[in-house]
Amino acid sequence: MNLIPELTAKAATYTALRRDIHAHPELGYEEERTAAVVVQWLKERDIEVHEGIGKTGVVGVIKGNQDGPGLAIRADMDALPLQEENNFSHASTHAGKMHACGHDGHTASLMAAADYINQNRDFAGTLYLIFQPAEEGGGGAKAMMDDGLFERFSIDEIYGYHNWAGYPEGHVALAPGPVMASANEFKVTITGKGTHAAMPHLGVDSLLVASHLVQAFQSIVSRNTAPLEAVVLSTTKIVASDATNIIADTCAMEGTVRCFTEENLVMVEERMAKLTAELCSAFGSRGELHFERAYPATVNHVAQTEHAARVAEQVVGAERVAAFTPTMGSEDFSFFLQAKPGCYLMIGNGDGEHRDAGHGLGPCALHNPSYDFNDGLIPVAASIWVALVNDRLGPNGIPTA
Ligand SMILES: [Zn+2]
Ligand SMILES: [Zn+2]
Repeated sequence: MNLIPELTAKAATYTALRRDIHAHPELGYEEERTAAVVVQWLKERDIEVHEGIGKTGVVGVIKGNQDGPGLAIRADMDALPLQEENNFSHASTHAGKMHACGHDGHTASLMAAADYINQNRDFAGTLYLIFQPAEEGGGGAKAMMDDGLFERFSIDEIYGYHNWAGYPEGHVALAPGPVMASANEFKVTITGKGTHAAMPHLGVDSLLVASHLVQAFQSIVSRNTAPLEAVVLSTTKIVASDATNIIADTCAMEGTVRCFTEENLVMVEERMAKLTAELCSAFGSRGELHFERAYPATVNHVAQTEHAARVAEQVVGAERVAAFTPTMGSEDFSFFLQAKPGCYLMIGNGDGEHRDAGHGLGPCALHNPSYDFNDGLIPVAASIWVALVNDRLGPNGIPTA
């Protein structure tokens, strides 16, 4: 590894910073304390700060000693509504809230990078530090864009990382093209005719229709999707009557759809609408589909992925950089990548060996109550961010217009 010595020398400071954020997790758009910690850190270093972008989002601005293009690096700040099972000293002090996705580590890594870059401004251009709220379902990236992020700041390229549990510590995985799926939610309301459960012939059983629809939806994946393409359709919730002797008037079913391409997404929604309308009608009921696109697919840009891979190889060594296998998980960094060229990369969090005594019995997996971010990644990620600034805003960086 070719880490920046000043960053490894201050590892204890950055670890303390990360652990303080871990101990005080806040949910999406409630990141008041976390944002305040970030703002104080930046202001103490005389870094220009813009607050309240996308409600609790923060942007720091570091100008190089020459003019040039704008590079943005993003960290998400929000935690999850989960009761932490770890009881080591930096475990959550907020009941029912936990940094189980490592956003505390993403935030600390960017703060560490800012700490170093602020002292070493020998680059041509501007670095924008984006501290984003509400990645976990709240669409904080979109909220910052709706609040004028790209109008207020001249950003030419954007990068971000996610720690990747189970992947070897400090190894980098990245790939051009789609790396994370789009996330979409659906709700179907089936209106039948309620009746006594002992006299089903007098009504229309909306729950029976729903059970057929659950199976019919699976034909979209198995029979309408090209076999080498990835689509997931999961019906996860069905609500009908509250009693064993009542056949419900209406039945509601909900679920999620994940895929990588616009073509498949349109196809899935159209097939779901047709099956809902016609299958429900065939049973003498009425079906209504409500389909909502939450996060688009995360699609890395080819050139920026090459830049990130080159820089990662310099920092962690080519033998620790590998191709990322796309996942059906999703990420709202996708909104940024729809607007600006960039790359979202993964850095291995290890297998959990790093955890302090007192961790929970569960695996060190993302969204698990026994999870903990690996502090060893902070100098790695921060060194990659520093190297990226030097690469992209240095002599071989983004060509100025
Ligand atoms: Zn998460
Ligand atoms: Zn996450």
